[in-house]
Amino acid sequence: MSSAAAGPISLEYTQDRADELKENIASVQEEIDAAATEAGGRESKPRLVAISKLKPASDIKALYDAGHRHFGENYIQEMVDKAAVLPADIKWHFVGSLQSNKSKLAAAVSNLFVLETLSSTKVADLLQKNLSPERTSKLNVYIQINTSSEDSKSGLPPLTASSSSSDSGSEVVDLAVHIIQQCPGLQLAGLMTIGSFESSHDTSKPNPDFEALKTTRTNLVRILKEKGVGGDGATIEEGQLELSMGMSADFVQAVKEGSSSVRVGTRIFGERPKKKDAAIEDIETSALNVTRKGKGMHRTSQDGQLS
Ligand SMILES: *Cc1c(COP(=O)(O)O)cnc(C)c1O
Repeated sequence: MSSAAAGPISLEYTQDRADELKENIASVQEEIDAAATEAGGRESKPRLVAISKLKPASDIKALYDAGHRHFGENYIQEMVDKAAVLPADIKWHFVGSLQSNKSKLAAAVSNLFVLETLSSTKVADLLQKNLSPERTSKLNVYIQINTSSEDSKSGLPPLTASSSSSDSGSEVVDLAVHIIQQCPGLQLAGLMTIGSFESSHDTSKPNPDFEALKTTRTNLVRILKEKGVGGDGATIEEGQLELSMGMSADFVQAVKEGSSSVRVGTRIFGERPKKKDAAIEDIETSALNVTRKGKGMHRTSQDGQLS
């Protein structure tokens, strides 16, 4: 956001805007609750993370004042700027791709709740090294999985039932082991996927991206057990690893398929502004700022936003 040019970030909102946002988030929450009830058999309710990227801090403040606490951002500088002016008990989720040279910035946000897009030991080490001394708890991390194997997506390859602990080069396993054994300030808290555009718009069958994320979790837990690697001396159970999956187009299905945390932007805040007006320095490297190759389908519009 162009806070430098535009002056201090304002947190003031109109009653109309607050009402609109509250209505939107309530209807999303209702759909989540209904889907969770329908699916049944879950220990905890899925979390709704309001993805506020490219939306003003005043929108966040309006939802904060209505009691919402989990917000997600896609661009590191934007999260840093917003976190500096918004209440400290907001639980920030970073959902964008994080270049290693920006790791320090992310780690310095003392109320960063979870970094959802970890995919390298290098970034894990940088986060560990630069964690804010003001943190009162470990920094949660999710490992991002490229479940659709699209070139345009960040994340590590998924695991399958035939993945084994003797396979060399399972990047997910290696990263998980690294976090558990080498990064005491980080908590391996789950897995995250963005999923393909096609799958998110086809409700006729189970979403293959969500299935792949679940399969990856099952097999990661299995392999960590085989290797004898667990958190704090214990073994990791599936219930300890969250699944971050589901966005505006497909959060209902994601919840039905076992999502622990959905990331909803447009359905709450409305369409996002054009990126070029938002002056985000690292937007070019966003995981979503890409044109899909080969399949004649564009996940993103010309300016790099989700379409
Ligand atoms: C923008 C974004 C979302 C929210 O997308 P909507 O379709 O607007 O709900 C979710 N996850 C990630 C990683 C995003 O970048």
